[in-house]
Amino acid sequence: MRDPDAKRARDRARYAADPEAVKARVRAWRAANPEAVRAIGRRARLAHPEIERAKRRAYLLAHPERRRAKNKAHKRKVMVSRRQWLADYKLAAGCADCPPGTVWPSAVLEMDHGTEDKLGNMSQMLRASWEVLVAEAAKCVVLCANHHRMRTVERKDHLKRRRNTTGNTP
Ligand SMILES: [Zn+2]
Repeated sequence: MRDPDAKRARDRARYAADPEAVKARVRAWRAANPEAVRAIGRRARLAHPEIERAKRRAYLLAHPERRRAKNKAHKRKVMVSRRQWLADYKLAAGCADCPPGTVWPSAVLEMDHGTEDKLGNMSQMLRASWEVLVAEAAKCVVLCANHHRMRTVERKDHLKRRRNTTGNTP
């Protein structure tokens, strides 16, 4: 007995006879069945992902402030995961100058560029591309804050001594 075409024709006739009554009934049904309404939307989105994508694109084009908020939220997420990556990287390496087995929290561990030419410090590099970030990390030696300071002081003293022995002193 179920004939979708016949039902559609009946619905159309009912709508033609009294559109406002049909609209009111639909509104009431939708208000009473929010879960079913959501399911219909989900089914439609699953059935037509390309329409869904186009709609979302059009929406973001029409709402620059939403687009900016979305980009900002995305960037924030990337930064959180990169900071976590750097913390894990430092923890895995540990301080190169401390006795083996010494464990420091990642906040105490620092990235020492040594004499490698440096594009920028690691907190700036977190904003660079992933490839640049990884390449920059590879230039560094992980050191605890004390050993980082000591190596830096030694390098400065070494430079000073070199300057003093190359003739420009009295
Ligand atoms: Zn150390």
